[in-house]
Amino acid sequence: MQIPGHIDPVTTGTVPLRGGNRIDLVGLTRDAIGGVLVEAGLDAKAAKLRAKQIWHWIYHRGVTDFEAMTDIAKTMRPWLTDRFIIGRPTVREAQVSSDGTRKWLLAAADGQEYEMVFIPDADRGTLCVSSQVGCTLNCRFCHTGTMRLVRNLAAGEIVGQVMLARDELGEWPKGTMAGFGPDPEDDDEEEGSHYTADGRILTNIVMMGMGEPLYNFDEVKGALKIVMDGDGLALSRRRITLSTSGVVPMMARAGDEIGVNLAVSLHAVSKEVRDEIVPLNRKYGIEELLQACADYPGAGNSRRITFEYVMLKDKNDSDDDARELVRLIREYGLHAKVNLIPFNPWPGAMYECSTPERVRAFSNLIFKSGISAPVRTPRGRDIMAACGQLKSAATKPTRAELDRIAEEKQAALG
Ligand code: SAH
Ligand code: SF4
Repeated sequence: MQIPGHIDPVTTGTVPLRGGNRIDLVGLTRDAIGGVLVEAGLDAKAAKLRAKQIWHWIYHRGVTDFEAMTDIAKTMRPWLTDRFIIGRPTVREAQVSSDGTRKWLLAAADGQEYEMVFIPDADRGTLCVSSQVGCTLNCRFCHTGTMRLVRNLAAGEIVGQVMLARDELGEWPKGTMAGFGPDPEDDDEEEGSHYTADGRILTNIVMMGMGEPLYNFDEVKGALKIVMDGDGLALSRRRITLSTSGVVPMMARAGDEIGVNLAVSLHAVSKEVRDEIVPLNRKYGIEELLQACADYPGAGNSRRITFEYVMLKDKNDSDDDARELVRLIREYGLHAKVNLIPFNPWPGAMYECSTPERVRAFSNLIFKSGISAPVRTPRGRDIMAACGQLKSAATKPTRAELDRIAEEKQAALG
């Protein structure tokens, strides 16, 4: 099958360097780290060895100071410090919900703001990661959709969220590195305790924060490759889910090149309703979207697609809607699961959440057909951290302004 080309209407732009003239290594691959070391004057062989060591310290151990890299010669550490930094996003605000959900408002080096959310559960801890500042799309029930797109986040800013979460949760492995012998050039190599892989708190990642990840494909892919690397953040692809509002031409590439679980924001089963609430539907319709799900590389029982379905009162929540959803899933032969998301309100939203009874009836109808349809418990609503409540600009636009932004976005989509 031909893999469609990269359609990405959004540019990342040039982000000023956090470390002044120094290069931030976060977000770089091993080879890229090797490349900047060569540019700084190391020969290729030394650069390759150092890149491997530095990569391990940055991504596997969470070190932010070259002085802590005990297998690198003491004399070399200041040389690295003069030229490079290992950055983190700046935390502007950190909030904790009554249910334990945590939300951080982060700032990039250029001052742009974005949010990340950590949702602790009994058996897992899920980090909800942003891919863009704002969003080009304008799903009518989504708070982020009321923001203009400011810019794409760079790979380092995406993986940086996971690294910051590990800092904040105190989750980096401690001790010396397994499999890394002492540095032959360094007589002062320090002794440390034995490496242990601590019990994980942050176990899962969902690309469900601000933005549409498939409109920022390359940077999201770069970040997730680091997250999945066994000697990087070492999270299995089975524990990572990418959510898309339905950017059909990029879905096959997401499966082939990233290979994580896919969640699709379906939210409606008729053209009329989906056109209204997920206006991207006017470009990529339901049939096309479901066909792309059927073609999703690796789709099958082992990699079930999740359909997200926000429950909006009197909009998409009837028994007929539930039956049509089941029919469509069957027609396309999908091994799918449905995630029902009670609508999370935000100031100025035009919708209401379906009643708990309606949500239960909708869920039961789908379950009866043999398709799993759990209801997602809203988390962090009191700190505006729940699905669709994220928005970094603290302005309160009027309804007319919201409509104007929506129109502009629609026109830009073509
Ligand atoms: N842009 C991507 C991922 C981010 S949104 C996407 O749209 O899939 C993560 C999920 O939250 C999506 O399914 C989105 O439709 C849903 N969502 C958005 N606003 C919501 C709201 N107010 N209440 C409940 N879910 C919402
Ligand atoms: Fe963007 Fe997703 Fe919100 Fe739609 S639901 S506006 S795609 S962040």
